[in-house]
Amino acid sequence: MTPFVDRGLETLAPETLRARQWARLGELARAIYPANPFVTEKWRRAGVAAPEDLGGWEDFHRLPFTDKTELAADQAAHPPFGANLTYPLARYVRVHQTSGTSGAPLRWLDTQESWDWWARCWSFVFRGAGLDAEDRVFFPFSFGLFVGFWAGFEGARALGALAIPGGGQDSAQRLAAIEALGATAICCTPSYALHLAEVARARGVSLAKLGVRTTVHAGEPGAGIPAVRARIEEAWGARAYDHAGMTEMGAYGFECAAQAGLHVNESEFIAEIIDPGTGAPAREGELVLSNLGRIGSPLLRYRTGDRVRAATVPCDCGRSFLRLEGGILGRVDDMLVVRGVNVFPSAIEGIVRRFAAVDEFMIEVYRRAEMDEVRLLLEIGEGTGHVPGVVQEAVRVDLGIRVEVVPVPARSLPRYELKARRLVRRALSR
Ligand SMILES: [Zn+2]
Repeated sequence: MTPFVDRGLETLAPETLRARQWARLGELARAIYPANPFVTEKWRRAGVAAPEDLGGWEDFHRLPFTDKTELAADQAAHPPFGANLTYPLARYVRVHQTSGTSGAPLRWLDTQESWDWWARCWSFVFRGAGLDAEDRVFFPFSFGLFVGFWAGFEGARALGALAIPGGGQDSAQRLAAIEALGATAICCTPSYALHLAEVARARGVSLAKLGVRTTVHAGEPGAGIPAVRARIEEAWGARAYDHAGMTEMGAYGFECAAQAGLHVNESEFIAEIIDPGTGAPAREGELVLSNLGRIGSPLLRYRTGDRVRAATVPCDCGRSFLRLEGGILGRVDDMLVVRGVNVFPSAIEGIVRRFAAVDEFMIEVYRRAEMDEVRLLLEIGEGTGHVPGVVQEAVRVDLGIRVEVVPVPARSLPRYELKARRLVRRALSR
């Protein structure tokens, strides 16, 4: 049996779960205060003089939020790792950094204990996707500084599965390795799964004939978008699962067999949803997370910048963990306002990906008179000249906005192994 299977933990009654979180939080607070300079300074400013001042959940909810800007400023002021460290540097065994999609990358250190914690969190992800010790999980990932699938690799190993590294290879070599080593699952961004499918098609390789039955995706919201998921599943002859995590926070969200949104691993994280404007609790809004097992470099009440919506009915799988309907809906600051209509780029992707003729796309956003205008660039195959008009009409019908749709030559848009950047904001050029 795998070491981390714990269905009991995932189906705890809400009050038991809260009590468990509270006990873990108390342990964490005693470990980090006053040892961790970043936390201590922040809490002191908020009037917390000792960990015992946290007497109940209302005190927790009075703790200040932390955001990414603050972490970046801290790391700039205390290079290279910042002051959010509970232990002397010698205790840390791993360094990783964020992908740097927005601004300078954040660096993050882990102790052996917190690295083991990462692996444990990922085992929830893999168990949710139905993987076990029989599986061979291939990671088409470059294994650089970005934490991404490093932790997933550890998680697969911790689950007892065979973890296969796919670094230092191009897409064709990766496809060959998947076949030669009998991989049953792959773990990568949704964009890269689609790119591999494109490469396979060009080389006459039938992905569905490979043994991959499960794909697990992170790094972008894609796998939670029905049209993207359908496309991946069709290309690979597999079931595609969404996962959410952040370098600075950990691997917190996963899908179960019901595939009804992302569960938040509430045995290791405390989740809140707030109105991004007022900070008040909300059913739909910005996800705020606290991790309970990363004592060496913790984050409490962290504003993730991700927009989510809480489900109100229990999941068919029986897990009692919070469920986020539709997964990550988008980045709070990526929301476009097109002629008064609020639109997330993921909603546009959800339409574009329905059309098999579209190989790749990009969303260009122009600001004109305080309004966003959208131009959609589509890479489409030969003989599909009608597609831009059809996509434009689908966007109008589904989202109620008018966008300009422009076909571009095949292979002219970038492909991504890590986080895709398909939204580009441009100065007004016309
Ligand atoms: Zn479920």
